[in-house]
Amino acid sequence: MTLTVVKYGEPVLRRRGTRIEQVTPETHALIADMFDTMQASRGIGLAAQQVGHAIQLAVVDVRGVKDRPSSLWIDGQEADVESFMPLVLINPVVTPRGKPVAGPEGCLSFPEIFGEVSRSGEIDVVASNERGDAFHFRAGGLLARVIQHEVDHLNGILFIDRMDSETRTNLKEEIEELMAETKARISGKK
Ligand code: ZN
Repeated sequence: MTLTVVKYGEPVLRRRGTRIEQVTPETHALIADMFDTMQASRGIGLAAQQVGHAIQLAVVDVRGVKDRPSSLWIDGQEADVESFMPLVLINPVVTPRGKPVAGPEGCLSFPEIFGEVSRSGEIDVVASNERGDAFHFRAGGLLARVIQHEVDHLNGILFIDRMDSETRTNLKEEIEELMAETKARISGKK
């Protein structure tokens, strides 16, 4: 089932997600719905906040992107990215490695708004999977970028917060317009 993706201006996007202590049938149902929603929106990552839940859960799938490479290492060995997808990240913790790399980003909660964001080119990730089992890996390229974007969401941080002031100034009007639309929609519902 596809869910509504909330837009910038919804307070839930600013809420830090609580830890998931136990993976329940409800968690599994939400994960399935988040995959449906991400695919329907042609996204490569989706955080629980974007479908209205402030919890530490995100889904990622970079298989659809062919022009921006991703890398993956498991236990020090280079591993196949495609067969590692789709990815469920529960309570993820990211440790940045290496230098920041600038690259273009968008966000399903900011339709048609794109901007350069600097992020670590490589990261170490520790998380639990959909069975609640801990796993760890190292990611690079697009995969590292999308995971950092999603883990930010889980902490109430948005990609516009990571843009440099020039990029953000250039997008100011569009961002404010989106916020106003969202606020109008929220107050219309009450
Ligand atoms: Zn996003």
